[in-house]
Amino acid sequence: MKNLYIDFDGVIYNSIEVSYKLAEEENVSKDYESYYQFFKNLDWCDVLEKSTEINDAFNCIKKIIDSGKFNVFILTHVISLKEAELKIGLIRNHLDDVTIIPVPKRVSKNKMVKVNGAILVDDYPENLREWERDGGISVRFDLDMDGKGFPVICKLDELVEMF
Ligand SMILES: [Mg+2]
Repeated sequence: MKNLYIDFDGVIYNSIEVSYKLAEEENVSKDYESYYQFFKNLDWCDVLEKSTEINDAFNCIKKIIDSGKFNVFILTHVISLKEAELKIGLIRNHLDDVTIIPVPKRVSKNKMVKVNGAILVDDYPENLREWERDGGISVRFDLDMDGKGFPVICKLDELVEMF
């Protein structure tokens, strides 16, 4: 069985879209530090309420687990502990048999878990590049099927056929 790490924002839930829209409304400058501070103080309760699941993600993850091909983990960047708590609560409402790993935003995902031979599904190309550099298998999630140099999917259950 392969270890499969699935990103949350932009893969399972469209929370990134929603929070960037809020940032735009508040005219947050587009540099890393301003965004970091914005996300640190963001009301994640509100964000998750306004967000929706992407392409039947939770059912797809259940199918992935049922395929017996993967050990499934949710690997999600968080800035605040409140954000971690709310995301864990939401995921647990849908899935009770996956491991959830919140990663501090300033730590790369490839520094959090053993990467070699493991699969990462993520929408953010930089995470995928770092993952591949450490010997992992990177798959981009993108609704427009733009892989940016990586194998690409737009629905999570495609993974069952892919591996
Ligand atoms: Mg993401």
